[in-house]
Amino acid sequence: MTQSGAPAKNAIPVTQTLEAQDYRHQRMSHELYQHALIGPVFYILGYVLVVIVGGFYREGSWCLVFPIVAFALLWWLRFRHRPLEKGASLSDYRSWYCHQWALILMGALIWGLISGAVAYLERKPESAVLVSLITTIAMSAAASQTFAMHPMQSRVCILFFLLPSIMVFALPALQLRSISITLAIYSAYLMANLSKCSKEYAQQLEVEIELISSRAELARMSMTDGLTGLQNRLSYEQVWPRAWHGAARKKEALALMMFDLDHFKAINDQHGHMIGDACLRHFGQVLHSFARRDSDFVARIGGEEFIMLLPATTVEAAQMIAEKIRQNLASTPCFFGQIEVRMTVSVGVGTVDWDADFEPQSSFSRIDHACYLAKNAGRNCVVTA
Ligand code: GH3
Ligand code: MG
Ligand code: MG
Repeated sequence: MTQSGAPAKNAIPVTQTLEAQDYRHQRMSHELYQHALIGPVFYILGYVLVVIVGGFYREGSWCLVFPIVAFALLWWLRFRHRPLEKGASLSDYRSWYCHQWALILMGALIWGLISGAVAYLERKPESAVLVSLITTIAMSAAASQTFAMHPMQSRVCILFFLLPSIMVFALPALQLRSISITLAIYSAYLMANLSKCSKEYAQQLEVEIELISSRAELARMSMTDGLTGLQNRLSYEQVWPRAWHGAARKKEALALMMFDLDHFKAINDQHGHMIGDACLRHFGQVLHSFARRDSDFVARIGGEEFIMLLPATTVEAAQMIAEKIRQNLASTPCFFGQIEVRMTVSVGVGTVDWDADFEPQSSFSRIDHACYLAKNAGRNCVVTA
């Protein structure tokens, strides 16, 4: 349940901003997690191919196993570094990204060094060098697309992939400068591509956030009474059965109050609809001021009819609150310029009777009837169901 969100209109943008921020980071961190998880698998595959094609395995050195162990460990670390739950703070997300990027860059650097080392050892662009180069090119191309959410870090990642090979091929002894130059041009292309991808990523994210925000705003508006800013009947129809069944499971006290302003038609007739509206807003504020807990719920469910729902509240406590509301309204006239309007309210109050009430509607009808009895008893009073 939400609190009767009366005139707290300025609270809405804050909530939306927080929601948008959370959506943005949830999406970015989940994508970063999933994309990073697949990397070590390709590193291992690429490395095994290089070792087989290059015939390095013939040397039988145990050192050859280290990169596989390193990539497997990297996969496990990335797997364990799960995205944060919804609602995490900005600083939590920041440290999560830092950790994640350290793992991504570590993989890129190890692979880049392997690729450079293979080029250095083989010295000619054949078999193993080709396999490691193709893998490097594929991995760096993937990084420029899949890590578009963080362009700065992705640039470093691409450099870690390509720079060792560019430097090795540039060595005069290898006489493969043309490959070095081609790789340098390719990395420049990837950087440009990354800028484009990150712009598109940011735009798409903004569009999604805007859609989500307008959907949330529409949902909020459909549950809000435009005149008083309280929750409306639709909201009440959702909240009341949910609260009722929730309390039923725990056999917990659940109080409901039904308010009907007295002779409200006469106020309209005497002062006009504008002042009638202002009176409704005034009573809305009175009710809102008595809904002190987050779980308390206030709604305008009809023209001059309001309800208040108080979970975990005994009938005595609810009676006391209802009486205070009644007295508050009766003793404080509303002033609209020079015009003074006095209002009173009839209240039906009660708690759910878990032996007699079989559904939310039966509790509501009993308490609504108590409100009707309050009218018959002369109005401006509280009757307990
Ligand atoms: P009772 O004491 O028996 O409740 O009398 P009442 O006049 O309050 O009750 P009745 O049901 O006869 O009239 C309700 C009035 O509430 C009629 C209608 O003009 C007024 N009303 C309903 N919705 C609004 C609204 O949004 N703004 C204004 N100003 N008046 C409204
Ligand atoms: Mg009425
Ligand atoms: Mg009335």
